[in-house]
Amino acid sequence: MKITATGTKEKKGVENKNLNSDTSLNFIQNIIEEDLKNNKNQGRVHTRFPPEPNGYLHIGHAKSICLNFGLAKQYNGLCNLRFDDTNPTKEEEEYINSIIEDIHWLGFDWEDRLYYASDYFEQLYKWAIKLIENGKAYIDDQDSEQISEQKGTPTKPGKESPYRKRSIEENLDLFMRMHAGEFPDGSRVLRAKIDMASPNMHLRDPVLYRILHTPHNHTGDKWCIYPMYDFTHGQSDYLEGITHSICTLEFEVHRPLYDWFLDQLINGNYRPQQIEFARLNLSYTVMSKRMLLELVEQGYVTGWNDPRMPTVSGLRRRGYTPESIRNFAEKIGIAKRENIIDVALLEHSVREDLNKKAPRVMAVLNPLKVVITNFPEDKTEELETENNPEDPGMGTRKLPFSREIYIEQEDFMENPSRKYFRLGPGREVRLKSAYIIKCENYIKNEKTGEIIELHCTYDPDTKSGSATSQRKVKGTLHWVSAKHAIRAEVRLYDRLFNDEDPAGKKDRDFKEFLNPDSLKIPDNCLVEPSLKNIKHGDKFQFQRLGYFCVDQDSISDKLVFNRTVTLRNTWAKMNK
Ligand code: ATP
Ligand code: MG
Repeated sequence: MKITATGTKEKKGVENKNLNSDTSLNFIQNIIEEDLKNNKNQGRVHTRFPPEPNGYLHIGHAKSICLNFGLAKQYNGLCNLRFDDTNPTKEEEEYINSIIEDIHWLGFDWEDRLYYASDYFEQLYKWAIKLIENGKAYIDDQDSEQISEQKGTPTKPGKESPYRKRSIEENLDLFMRMHAGEFPDGSRVLRAKIDMASPNMHLRDPVLYRILHTPHNHTGDKWCIYPMYDFTHGQSDYLEGITHSICTLEFEVHRPLYDWFLDQLINGNYRPQQIEFARLNLSYTVMSKRMLLELVEQGYVTGWNDPRMPTVSGLRRRGYTPESIRNFAEKIGIAKRENIIDVALLEHSVREDLNKKAPRVMAVLNPLKVVITNFPEDKTEELETENNPEDPGMGTRKLPFSREIYIEQEDFMENPSRKYFRLGPGREVRLKSAYIIKCENYIKNEKTGEIIELHCTYDPDTKSGSATSQRKVKGTLHWVSAKHAIRAEVRLYDRLFNDEDPAGKKDRDFKEFLNPDSLKIPDNCLVEPSLKNIKHGDKFQFQRLGYFCVDQDSISDKLVFNRTVTLRNTWAKMNK
């Protein structure tokens, strides 16, 4: 299935969906409502978001965050944040801090329920001993290669390890000595004793513990054996009282193992339930942390928060709002089958939100000088203009107008076609919030063909908003006053990849599909003077050019803007 987001059709679809969202539940909500009806877990709903702190959060994680925290909120429940930190080699404090910042920024909070899977190492160790004592786990002295050779294939049963029949006493002794640090990395593992012929590969005596003489971010050098993800996750859910343990589809095949551990280790009438949903895949985007890390480490982007990255911090820097991301997550819904969402839908969400919130201002990316020959040389006229036509409450501001202004180079054509409604010799346009001007003459560099300057006249009777302004023309241009405008660096982003599915090509490296034009910075951008005192993160609509956000690199004498997204179809329409 594929959702496309094009034109007005998409808008309609979105509106319908919003109307329906109160009445139609997704399949996870159905499960929860059924559980509540049956008073399962005494009517509690408790979810968790369990990131591994080995990278920054991306938009896929944001979907999972919105889902887990959203369900807790909807059903008066709780949602925990749990760092799934079982692998000491890849995890860093920087990632933990960024994850905390990003979830808060998205608008969610876990109150005092911040946990680490490593908080449970002691209990997990006891549970491992219990499995050994019950004859359900054994120490295997083989290395990982030998173990995987014996795994078999989905259609061919595996081979039992020669160590599988070790006595409980010997297993206990070896496990304690593993724990005491007597053995080198990789020399032994603890495995569950389940079924080497199971059609589910995950039940073929999975590894529970490995030896790693590596200090852990959270537990220091207390441990030199570490539990595997599968042996940790369900039990952590149990310890935290999680009722609905929501994860992505690739864990569906792990579910029997999740349940097997709980069967062996806990009794009582409460147990968490694992529920899988389809992960978010976005067109023109890679989402795996391994690939994102590669882009960062090899310098294809400037960092995890490069505005081209699909990370939460990248989107934030790009100018996305938390609301736009939450709305996106709501719109795409929850599915049981893998799909790819058109990245245009994400772009639509931020456009929709900023349309309501962002003040309109004028900026010119590629300036072309225009002299208004009948406007007095020393005069500056202050024109009143509204900040946002979508929201009159946002007020108005003054815009200086003078004899020399800049317009966009591409808003003039020497030999325009009939359908080009911008400037050409002898043609008229309206300057946004100002006057109608007419192009009387132009200066051209005969060698290069470059247009250097336009000479225009303005019609004083056509002032925008005034009672005398009756005349209409087809084209309206944005502009800035030459002597008032300020220079700015404007970073124009395009998609990071020029292929819809960069990660999904057999035998091709995803980096082959990097878009060489994903960042362009025109040389001489100018913005209107009201932007002098802006701060990081402020967002604007540059008239006709898109939505822009003040970048963290911006300092008082060098403004830097990121283009969040273009305005839909503006240029497409004008070029027709
Ligand atoms: P990646 O595959 O990008 O490396 P991961 O699944 O290893 O991600 P975790 O830190 O383990 O990353 O993920 C934390 C939670 O976010 C998990 O519950 C996982 O299922 C969920 N999650 C990860 N990627 C997506 C996605 N693309 N869409 C929805 N949920 C996701
Ligand atoms: Mg994971």
